[in-house]
Amino acid sequence: MSEKTIYNFNAGPAVLPREVMLKAQAEFANFHGIGYGLMEESHRSPVFEEVLAKTEKNVRDLLGVDDSYSVLFLQGGASLQFAMIPMNLALPGKPMLYANTGYWAGRAIAEAKLFGDVKLVYDGKPTNYSHIGDCSDWQFDQDASYAYLCSNNTIYGSQYRSFPDTGKLPLIADMSSDIMSRPVNMSKFSMIVAGAQKNLGPSGVTLVIMKKDLVARTPEKTPTMLKYSTHIDNNSMYNTPPTFGIYMLGLVTDWIKDQGGLEGMKSLNTHKSQTVYECIDHSGGYYRGTVDAADRSQMNITFRLGTEELENKFLKEAKARGFIGLKGHRAVGGVRASVYNAMPYAGVSALVDFMHEFQSKNG
Ligand SMILES: *Cc1c(COP(=O)(O)O)cnc(C)c1O
Repeated sequence: MSEKTIYNFNAGPAVLPREVMLKAQAEFANFHGIGYGLMEESHRSPVFEEVLAKTEKNVRDLLGVDDSYSVLFLQGGASLQFAMIPMNLALPGKPMLYANTGYWAGRAIAEAKLFGDVKLVYDGKPTNYSHIGDCSDWQFDQDASYAYLCSNNTIYGSQYRSFPDTGKLPLIADMSSDIMSRPVNMSKFSMIVAGAQKNLGPSGVTLVIMKKDLVARTPEKTPTMLKYSTHIDNNSMYNTPPTFGIYMLGLVTDWIKDQGGLEGMKSLNTHKSQTVYECIDHSGGYYRGTVDAADRSQMNITFRLGTEELENKFLKEAKARGFIGLKGHRAVGGVRASVYNAMPYAGVSALVDFMHEFQSKNG
């Protein structure tokens, strides 16, 4: 192969497993011998229905999702979920409880405010979102509509180590950037939403897993496409679903199963993130992590160098060496290495070699 090795640290859309890309390529124009591509096939055909059923089964198997939940494949990104959640699930006169741990939690809060009263169970703004801490002492008023959190803060680089106990109150999580990166106790959650483009596939499909009984809350005059019940009643096929995204999500979840499932992902992700954080912590302050050590993300590793000038030099040289997508989000600056499931250990190891080399030349 004459291609130069590229390690893709993009935050999203992001790296996909190489094997999955090659498989999709191989069967793109002739799917399983039918003589044409799956993307040319009706979503109502047995061929596509099999893909959908397989993909749903993978999601249920990997996350341990039982029949009391529906698994939906929707469009509009996690961003549409920010509105659909309060639109469908806010109870009249009962506040919605949110944990404000960063940019995407903030977007969700702004949408919820359009539908009722929002109360914050935690606000990370005063610490510039560098901290989540022990959430076991957060207060969840049992007379609220629901509780909401964002499990991994893609932009600031923090992640929950454990999740709060919300009692009878339904807990809803945006897991867009760490879904299937580690095992999760499904019974804690009434609902999980995740845009696919970080850990599950391409952009254009959003995975929604929700307790079926929640739909009883939806106000009658909610537009058809914005009602969860519409998608549940029609198995995500009320209208044309995002067939390519669902197909790719099926291949990615096949791949995750082959890697040892979520336990396999967890050990790989722990190993990868520890390698980078150790490099940061042993650099004598040359590289500085931006999040409290206990709350650091295993998916998005954020750090700074001494000056912006040095950061720009780092990013430029990294790019020339094939490490792409390392620029931090404009809201935080600095460097962000997104090391989702599909990032191989070799990519992280090569990055750390480069970090050592850069420090010794520019220290
Ligand atoms: C990327 C991201 C989003 C936004 O997803 P869209 O598909 O662009 O709407 C929301 N939440 C989290 C945690 C994200 O990482």
